[in-house]
Amino acid sequence: MAERRQAATAYVGLGANLGRREETLRAALAELGRRPGVRVVRASAFRETEPVGGPPGQPCYLNAAAELLTTLEPEELLTVLQQVEDAFGRTRQVRWGPRTLDLDLLLYGDEVIVDRKLRVPHPELVVRRFVLAPLAELCPERVVPGTGLSVAALLARAPRDDVTAVGLYPV
Ligand code: AMP
Repeated sequence: MAERRQAATAYVGLGANLGRREETLRAALAELGRRPGVRVVRASAFRETEPVGGPPGQPCYLNAAAELLTTLEPEELLTVLQQVEDAFGRTRQVRWGPRTLDLDLLLYGDEVIVDRKLRVPHPELVVRRFVLAPLAELCPERVVPGTGLSVAALLARAPRDDVTAVGLYPV
């Protein structure tokens, strides 16, 4: 892929609720870092969270966030995320159903993108504690474009009842 722009800082959300979840998240981070134009700068702790929405009886998720430095355009980065998801055998049959690996582009620099295929900041970001909590570990002061609020401020006002952390994995 063409390396066209100055490197941008992007944040990605990771989730897994099937199989060897911790191994999957570690391997996905390693795989992302091997892709041309992508460097994984750091990652949050892995948090175990109750599934939100979707069919009942799903196993718990392991969630994390990662900071990337990338020379890819946002759409190219989304394609890479989808390739890595597919490489880990994600099942897409059921909306919000169980998945081996879910990768979301949360933030890309200070950009706001509203496109058929890509929305940045990720629309779920501002209301999901399981996304905001790991992100707050990496960049609490970063203002989320379009909200005027920092990640930490959004976390403080996110609904409390939509997710219950049941464990904290040290990394
Ligand atoms: P999901 O099943 O939640 O992973 O959603 C995947 C779909 O969301 C794909 O078709 C993407 O094109 C779309 N999408 C829109 N914005 C984003 C984003 N910021 N990160 C990841 N997927 C996105």
